[in-house]
Amino acid sequence: MSRLVFWIALAVLIFFAVRAKLRAAVRNQQMHVPPQGRPAAAPPAAIEDMTSCAHCGLHFPVSEAVRADGRDYCSPAHVPPVAH
Ligand SMILES: [Zn+2]
Repeated sequence: MSRLVFWIALAVLIFFAVRAKLRAAVRNQQMHVPPQGRPAAAPPAAIEDMTSCAHCGLHFPVSEAVRADGRDYCSPAHVPPVAH
């Protein structure tokens, strides 16, 4: 009879040990996966405003614009020299 109790206790111990291991593994996975509610790094180019160069008319993102006297230019080379 005591042998049966021993085996039942062993089975219960193994059951709880395996369950704890599985829960830890699931928790680890959840920590590495970003939450569903938050969008993971949306591409900024898709929502960025565009502008055109006042010199050559090239269209490009506003963040790459070279600004001079209230106008946007594609590169410093297209900024007209300042006349004083
Ligand atoms: Zn240009």
